[in-house]
Amino acid sequence: MAEPLLSSALSPPSEAPALSGPRRALLLFMVQGLPLLGLGYGVWLFVREGIRALDVGLLVGMYLLTMTGIELGFHRYYAHRTFETTRLIRALLLILGSMAGQGSALLWSGVHRWHHAHTDVPGDLHSPTLGRHGVWQRVRGFLWAQFLWYLDSPAVVKFSRFLERHRSAPEAALSAPEDNQECRLARTMPDLLRDQGLLRLNQRYGLWVLLGLVLPAVVGGLATGSWEGAWRGLVWGGFVRFSLVQQASFAINSVTHTLGTRPVSTRDDSRNNAVMAVLTLGAGWHNNHHAFPGSAFTDFRWWQVDASGLMIRVLARLGLAWDVRKPSPEALAMRART
Ligand SMILES: [Zn+2]
Ligand SMILES: [Zn+2]
Repeated sequence: MAEPLLSSALSPPSEAPALSGPRRALLLFMVQGLPLLGLGYGVWLFVREGIRALDVGLLVGMYLLTMTGIELGFHRYYAHRTFETTRLIRALLLILGSMAGQGSALLWSGVHRWHHAHTDVPGDLHSPTLGRHGVWQRVRGFLWAQFLWYLDSPAVVKFSRFLERHRSAPEAALSAPEDNQECRLARTMPDLLRDQGLLRLNQRYGLWVLLGLVLPAVVGGLATGSWEGAWRGLVWGGFVRFSLVQQASFAINSVTHTLGTRPVSTRDDSRNNAVMAVLTLGAGWHNNHHAFPGSAFTDFRWWQVDASGLMIRVLARLGLAWDVRKPSPEALAMRART
């Protein structure tokens, strides 16, 4: 299936200097250090006091909600437009995806569309394998794609600032005269930059991230009637969940371009990985996905569990999703590796 939203004419990003030392360290601390500290605190709390049923419920519940926002919302709806749905569900998916704190829907989608246009070739912003040979370089590439790619891909930071500059009128970014990488990233998503509903909600990105932390705290506090319950809700449903969702999502860049099977023919290093498919609600069938990025489903075999695809099927059955895209059996057969 063709991916109509991606232009094959996209040129690779230009070379740009990496972030400087202190700024790089600050960004690394903010994006990953703090969440990992939260995860470490959760582990310490678990060792010291154990974990209660409510803690588990908030952790699992918030994980499923925000991972749904990322995979079903940011990925399959906003980045790939693999189905259509109601305005209310679109808004809900944007808010849930934003609560994961992996960047706004615009930033996430632009970087992801660029990834599909340059998968594992020069220009890819988070390939673990590009230009790397031998075990040691592959290990370094794996760790880079898991933890550091957004720091050493200045395009991500510049694109984020670019979107911030055009915050009041993002559509104007499409006609910006410059031909730098930020503009080229913006040009991958004219549909999103003209989506007024998305833009209104997207402008409140920080609020949604905060909501992802406050919501489990409020539930924990109300359920126990105590400040301690609110604090535990914040730790398990907020900090620990935030870190786990982030690492699972980033592992799609590292693990599923390194470890797994390649049953479908693609020109990249994408892999199917069953463990990652469970953790990411279907994104782990990544070889399937790269072969057919416009498909609403990633389960091309009966035993491949694709939770997000299942949700789309349920929404379609209820009349809440339509124009659901999937490859034909002939297209699947043609791409199958023998
Ligand atoms: Zn990929
Ligand atoms: Zn994708």
